[in-house]
Amino acid sequence: YGFSRRSDIGDKIRVSFEFFPPKTDEMEVRLWDTVKRLEPLQPNFVSVTYGAGGSTRERTGRTIKRIQGETNIQAAAHLTCVGASKDEVNAVIAEFVSYGIKRFVALRGDPASGVGGTYRPHSEGYQNGADLVAGLKSFGDFDISVAAYPEKHPESPDFATDIEMLKRKVDNGATRAITQFFFDNDLYERYVERVRRAGIYIPIVPGIQPVHSFKQVANFASRAGAHVPAWLAERFEGLDRDPQTHALVAAAVAAEQVLDLVERGVGDFHFYTMNRSDLVVAICHMIGIRAPAETVVDVAGSAAA
Ligand code: FAD
Repeated sequence: YGFSRRSDIGDKIRVSFEFFPPKTDEMEVRLWDTVKRLEPLQPNFVSVTYGAGGSTRERTGRTIKRIQGETNIQAAAHLTCVGASKDEVNAVIAEFVSYGIKRFVALRGDPASGVGGTYRPHSEGYQNGADLVAGLKSFGDFDISVAAYPEKHPESPDFATDIEMLKRKVDNGATRAITQFFFDNDLYERYVERVRRAGIYIPIVPGIQPVHSFKQVANFASRAGAHVPAWLAERFEGLDRDPQTHALVAAAVAAEQVLDLVERGVGDFHFYTMNRSDLVVAICHMIGIRAPAETVVDVAGSAAA
């Protein structure tokens, strides 16, 4: 996982897709259209988010159970420990394991007051992401992903503190880190170099956020401590009411980012899909991740000429 130039696009590249648990029947239908369209791309796994404080426990559980039961994809369950005792979190782990789940994305979660609020661990709970990894490991030999922050976590005073926390997660058994989304690949590359210098050798998988709505992404980025470069804002300027052009620009931006990362030697990608498939399918296509011809669904109702 150093940086070596790649010329073999598509060879050995692996992808994973992140979904959120649907709130309504309509959203459930949309998610399943997306899952079915992405399944032939044979992702390494797909993951389903978990509301901080357990607010989506039931919906996350239902979604991972269905993916595990009705598709050929392995599902990973996100899990947070904020606002819950160890017993409560352990009960959720046991429930998810009963659905055949062997992969987890272990997170601390944000305080109830929101991102940037003061975090206080539950008095009888797991203290942070690293502690949750240790808890999961004591249950079974799971594949455990954790969060990493190329621009450091907003609560971290500096990169050293941030990377020290990542090191604790790895020492406790994390097998992969997935990054917060970012748009400047140099930031990611510098971060990976720092992480390697700290003696951390697990894959640092870039989290790619296709820009379905620039407004929404910019808003989320400011809360998550991710930087939105001026050039990116400029590209989407004036496209608020032109969804078609917005989508084309978004595909170009994401393709540019991902292809550049491939050039830099990155072989694994995690996509924040927002439960939508279009941009993700296009980007995957460009890096050589494609559905076998016989499984391609005629999405537009007519074949592309
Ligand atoms: P931790 O690693 O425990 O801590 C975060 C940072 O805080 C550390 O990097 C460290 O710098 C600092 N810190 C914490 N404790 C200490 C300490 N004692 N001393 C010094 N510094 C400290 N949230 C959800 O609610 N549900 C999800 O499904 C979800 N999925 C996510 C998936 C990914 C890939 C990512 C990147 C984030 C996700 N989040 C999710 C958001 C996540 O919960 C927040 O970013 C949260 O604020 C931090 O979680 P963590 O596991 O990174 O925390």
